[in-house]
Amino acid sequence: MKDPNYLMVRIVKVGTLTLEPTDLAGSLTIRCKHELGVGGGSTVTLIRSDRTILVDTGFDFEDSRDTHYVKRNRQQLLFALRRNGVTPDQIDGVFISHWHKDHFGNLSLFPHARRLASERLCRELPDEGLVPVADGEEIATSARMVLTPGHTDGHASVIVGCRLGGVAARVAIAGDAIISYGDVLTGRIWPYNADFFDRNLAVESVTHLFSQADIIIPGHDVPFSVTPHLRKTWEKTMRTRTAD
Ligand SMILES: [Zn+2]
Repeated sequence: MKDPNYLMVRIVKVGTLTLEPTDLAGSLTIRCKHELGVGGGSTVTLIRSDRTILVDTGFDFEDSRDTHYVKRNRQQLLFALRRNGVTPDQIDGVFISHWHKDHFGNLSLFPHARRLASERLCRELPDEGLVPVADGEEIATSARMVLTPGHTDGHASVIVGCRLGGVAARVAIAGDAIISYGDVLTGRIWPYNADFFDRNLAVESVTHLFSQADIIIPGHDVPFSVTPHLRKTWEKTMRTRTAD
């Protein structure tokens, strides 16, 4: 990684989750949260260095057939970008962690941006105009892609070297490799998507990100620090689960 002073990372939209590990599983919980305005869209993160890159595009209420949500999602993202001093035409590239609508739903707002994704995802979706990125390749100065399969086969995250709070920090923009802080604390691996790929790989991907980053930006939650205590808690949870 090159000059970390050069780079800025901003969360332009914090993702939400309609089913936390502590929630009662079921459609009523999700419906109640939706009525309260929790849409379950992904976190959207902006990287500015030699290129301006958006990681995931967010999309709330992805299962709704109501078309007004499309307009509402577009307006929310446009507003969030404007608040951070960026317009869609200034985005050089959009990196998509994986092909779930809550992560790519607003992609059409960026017709001129390169659509970056892992090589595996590009092979799965040859008609989406995706530009392949190799494991470890930089998508901008000091921002490299790392494969994090498990949640889906072609899932990938981005690790950024920057300065936060005046000190050098490695930030992992995890996508759904790490969905929420609650998932980590409880050892939950999100099992609900139809194209879920591999639980063991999903566990390995979390462990890998913990070894590579100081701060995690989860796919559907606020950021958190990877403390030694958290690493130990995660390892212990995984050992206990394997032993079960
Ligand atoms: Zn997902």
